[in-house]
Amino acid sequence: MTKSSYPLIGAHVSIAGGIHRAIDTGIELGCTAIQIFTHSNRQWSFKPIQQEAADLFIKEQKNSPIEMVVAHATYLMNLASPNSASRLKAILMLEMELQACEILKIPYLVIHPGSHLESDMKDALYNCAQSINVALDNDGATKILIENMAGQGSVIGSSLEQLSEIYRQIHHKDRVGFCFDTCHAFAAGYDFTTSTTYENFWKHFDSVLGIEKLHCIHMNDSIKPLNARVDRHTNIGEGKIGLEAFSLLMSDEQLKHIPKILETPKGDELENDRINIRLLKSLIKKQ
Ligand code: MN
Ligand code: MN
Ligand code: ZN
Repeated sequence: MTKSSYPLIGAHVSIAGGIHRAIDTGIELGCTAIQIFTHSNRQWSFKPIQQEAADLFIKEQKNSPIEMVVAHATYLMNLASPNSASRLKAILMLEMELQACEILKIPYLVIHPGSHLESDMKDALYNCAQSINVALDNDGATKILIENMAGQGSVIGSSLEQLSEIYRQIHHKDRVGFCFDTCHAFAAGYDFTTSTTYENFWKHFDSVLGIEKLHCIHMNDSIKPLNARVDRHTNIGEGKIGLEAFSLLMSDEQLKHIPKILETPKGDELENDRINIRLLKSLIKKQ
């Protein structure tokens, strides 16, 4: 099969039945990029990935139109926790997730920066950066992508300035970048839904974080309105972000090479994934 090159578009897919099954599902959905959990995302237990399973996964990807695989880390870890025992647990999990990515040859691991709980924001940003520094104290190749958050509860990383402050304290800067989630950004108060607000937003992103550090986009519409600070994903065009923003994202030359991944409700037999992927492709404006 030949690689279709652009656009790099796809969905988060399941690894149930074996990690290579994610590739099969991705092909079936018409993906050129996919996102996976390398293990159950709601469990602390972690079975190391066998070389044989990894080889099969790598071979299947090579022979598929899927050009990019991104991993997403478990939701359980709180790298920013003020509690050193919870932080250590999170770091150990992150190290195992990074090892899984290395063996699967996955270039990017998306993480949530964490929650400050009873500590203040400054300490939480520091703790998050130090946790990442410990986990990256090796010579691996996989990059950690810090995702922007909606700002629900005590979750950190809902502003680009907070993400920038974490990055400033990172030692291995070449091994850290960012993942942009449309639903989270919108819920956190960033408007990019018209051509004017879109352009201003990305100028701001570039000046605060540097657009060259962006390596993944999560394409999710938002049930909740702008600045609601509540994280609820929905199908493209069915939420408050609206089609224009997704059309601008899909047609943006400077974001062309960046994998765009759906994390929207899947529907019966992944029906919604198919519809969303088809819809996003149809939104590309011909230059
Ligand atoms: Mn995420
Ligand atoms: Mn996301
Ligand atoms: Zn979300």
